[in-house]
Amino acid sequence: MAKTTKKTATKAPARKKKFVEDLNLNNIVNTQFDKAARCLKMPPGLLDQIKCCNNVYFMQFPVKFGNKYQMIKAWRAEHSHHRKPLKGGIRYSLMVDQDEVMALAALMSYKCAIVDVPFGGSKGGVQIQARAYTPEQLEKITRRLTAELIRKDFIGPGINVPAPDYGTGEREMAWIADTYDAFHPGDLDNMACVTGKPITQGGIRGRSEATGRGVVYALRELFRNQKEIARYGMAGGLEGKTVSVQGLGNVGYHAARILHAEDGAKIVAVGEFDGTIYNPKGIDIPALQRHRKKTGSIRNFPGAKNLKNSSDCLEVECDILIPAALENQITAENAKKIRCRVVAEAANGPTTPKAEEELTKRNILVLPDIFMNAGGVTVSYFEWTKNLSHMRYGRLEKRIDSAKRENLVGSLEKLVSGNFPKKKRAELVAGTDEHDLVNSGLEETMVCAYREILEIRNRFRSVSDMRTAAYLCAIQKVARGYLELGIFP
Ligand code: NAD
Repeated sequence: MAKTTKKTATKAPARKKKFVEDLNLNNIVNTQFDKAARCLKMPPGLLDQIKCCNNVYFMQFPVKFGNKYQMIKAWRAEHSHHRKPLKGGIRYSLMVDQDEVMALAALMSYKCAIVDVPFGGSKGGVQIQARAYTPEQLEKITRRLTAELIRKDFIGPGINVPAPDYGTGEREMAWIADTYDAFHPGDLDNMACVTGKPITQGGIRGRSEATGRGVVYALRELFRNQKEIARYGMAGGLEGKTVSVQGLGNVGYHAARILHAEDGAKIVAVGEFDGTIYNPKGIDIPALQRHRKKTGSIRNFPGAKNLKNSSDCLEVECDILIPAALENQITAENAKKIRCRVVAEAANGPTTPKAEEELTKRNILVLPDIFMNAGGVTVSYFEWTKNLSHMRYGRLEKRIDSAKRENLVGSLEKLVSGNFPKKKRAELVAGTDEHDLVNSGLEETMVCAYREILEIRNRFRSVSDMRTAAYLCAIQKVARGYLELGIFP
């Protein structure tokens, strides 16, 4: 019998298995869905119908730059057809893959339901890093992508209507509209095939800032509710509240700018892909944007301290943290280091379920993406209806509104034998224009949705977080749509 030494006989102590968090956005969205679905009683199978993604179109197409060819990978996912057309942005990012696009399409279905926008959810992605291409190259890619979508019936005013997302903006939307128009000569509603266009190409006033402004309207409503905000150890009102923003793109820029300019909040940190800047006295956001345009970076902004990592902006002490870049930013790894009281999810999927558990344990409020960034699709809906009606909002009533106000202000001045200061008077007599109407519709939408979600959170005894309440709100509305429509053929 072979002798075993004491050393070899002793079992090595079992190594603690390292926890690996699942960062697949599709799995995360489905986990969040399932958590809410457990609170509901639905006919068997209906929840599966709501949860699953109906179609995904994967394409690989060539583009030619000079004498070089390049293959481009792209996806368009259609999550739900309970309302038509389908709606969702197009993202240009190297991280795009099929699962991500499917997850983002599902989030679109849920957010449209929450804000009562009559669209199904869709999303598109092109696997490129936009800043690695010239505008001419991006135009080629965008036009070719549009041609692919047309060929497969994945775009059209009554079918599927894209919009901007990460890495795309109104320039790309104009190229999409123009390409679609070229393929459908004479069709009257062509401009409604895409939203987020420049105003001169059928866009709507207020769309470019809509997602960021929606985030602000939601925060205003939260901070107006003294009882609710006290639960998280804060006083009401946004004045003087400290804010850190991750991502100074379309959504983050406008959210930060408006919070400072209109609400008196203090933006203490901004993170970009190349680092974070920090100034406890507050950062002037339009000035920072000018500095970024001039120098190519947010770093070295006068008065602010450079912090090394882009993720440092997530860990600074503040009242409100606004992740407005990409998914999976607040994870099990850094959740313990988050030092804010409210996470306002402007980006899609910035907080993982494990991280949310940790934040909730520490009484940090998480306002979920499917509600917080729904302002973009809300104003896209206004743009779509504007394109179908072929007329600018406010065009018919602006003058009559202004005349009535003039009459009222003039009568008041006569009555009190005095005049309003010039600036105030001009404000009082101005007729309601498109921008006013869009902002009014956006505010109404965000406030109503917030109240609805809060009411659900308070009504369901087993629900304590706003995300689950938002999913419950969405699932019930989509379910009603499917039940009423039935299945055909
Ligand atoms: P954008 O491309 O305009 O801006 C994103 C910004 O994030 C860029 O400035 C980019 O440099 C920066 N960034 C990239 N990596 C970063 C990192 N690691 N740390 C910090 N910053 C980083 O995109 P956007 O349209 O503002 O979209 C941002 C998020 O908001 C995405 O999740 C998108 O899906 C979501 N969203 C956008 C809209 C919309 O209307 N644009 C609507 C709803 C949701």
